[in-house]
Amino acid sequence: MNYTKSQQLFSRAQQSIPGGVNSPVRAFRSVGGTPVFIKSARGAHLFDEDGNQFIDYINSWGPMILGHAYEPVVKAIQEKAAGSTSFGAPTELEINMAELIKSMAPNIDLIRMVSSGTEACMSAIRLARGYTGKNKFIKFEGCYHGHADCFLVKAGSGVATLNIQTVPGVTAGVAQDTLTAPYNNLNAVEKLVEEHKGEIAAIIIEPVVGNMGCVPPQPGFLEGLRKICDEENIVFIFDEVMTGFRLAAGGAQEKLKIDADLVTYGKVIGGGLPVGAFGGKKEIMEHIAPLGNVYQAGTLSGNPIAMIAGFTMLNELKNNQSIYTELDQKGARLEKTINDILAGKNIPHRINRVGSMISIFFCNNEVTDFESASKTDTNIFNKFFHHMMEQGIYLPPSAYESWFFSAALSHEDLEKTFNAIKSFEIA
Ligand SMILES: *Cc1c(COP(=O)(O)O)cnc(C)c1O
Repeated sequence: MNYTKSQQLFSRAQQSIPGGVNSPVRAFRSVGGTPVFIKSARGAHLFDEDGNQFIDYINSWGPMILGHAYEPVVKAIQEKAAGSTSFGAPTELEINMAELIKSMAPNIDLIRMVSSGTEACMSAIRLARGYTGKNKFIKFEGCYHGHADCFLVKAGSGVATLNIQTVPGVTAGVAQDTLTAPYNNLNAVEKLVEEHKGEIAAIIIEPVVGNMGCVPPQPGFLEGLRKICDEENIVFIFDEVMTGFRLAAGGAQEKLKIDADLVTYGKVIGGGLPVGAFGGKKEIMEHIAPLGNVYQAGTLSGNPIAMIAGFTMLNELKNNQSIYTELDQKGARLEKTINDILAGKNIPHRINRVGSMISIFFCNNEVTDFESASKTDTNIFNKFFHHMMEQGIYLPPSAYESWFFSAALSHEDLEKTFNAIKSFEIA
């Protein structure tokens, strides 16, 4: 493939934008090479500035679950924009959005809209602290909850991809209130809770991890955390920024049948526009301003264009839940066929998958936490990534990110993907 135009744009971008990108993983630092500059996309396919075409396994890191340029969403945005793009005053659409989410997801009595997943998680932690009057919280190694200071301790996603150990700018004072435990390790959590008795406001978790690659919770793990939270008056926060409206209409709470106290959303919830949300039990949510004194606000929160995009997308998902079965079937086919192809080539690998989140780890061990995920051979991954791109398959440019596919991905696209993997050689 020819990437001349992307190369020129990348040089130009670096003159004015740090690293040429507005979010680090896009820069291809860990896989090497030049990021492709995207011109447009439709359905399951991306088109770059050089005229190359790719089957998309990122889907904007999750939001485009129904495929790119999904007609009803595009139309709704166009119509809404004609009536002005922002008011900074309440609209009926915001009520419709809140009611729709409540009708889809469990345990949401009240919900507040924000503009990103980061904002949602940051606000949820502040609320948990304000509600409990306690300062510390527990997160899990390799989980990513956005880039707010308190979460940049053993964070996954780009922090893991770039192998950043401690983030300059995050003060020790902030970091000392963030406690970490390995994912799927209930004993470690019990120990932390014992050591910091009466000090822990919240446990925040990706109920299915996507940010160290896809890592599912082991049976009993989330149930055990739920029990600890109940016993110790700890707020149990599900970060469903990735899993919300993707694993099921009601997200991981529905799929795994676990109740959270607070839930954060992002990605799918905005249909491709910048939207996040946090919501949960009334007793806790009532502490948010103006009901309570836990302050949280946003000039563009509940923005009409963002709301109509998200509302239209969620409404489609609510009214067509067979989509989740369809996504799961495509995922199962991906998992099985890739497994067979790589096994036939004697390439060491493990595949983790839940619904439409899937990861290939190039290693011989089970992947259940960040330590085991780190055993993936990144040299093989980088070769694999570039080989796939040459074959017109666009994967996340990091061994520590889950792939996401959309309902627009066809069986013909899957065949092309399999053929691309068949021609992959390690040597
Ligand atoms: C992407 C992500 C975030 C951050 O969302 P942004 O919209 O990028 O700020 C938080 N939590 C999880 C689980 C995510 O995957």
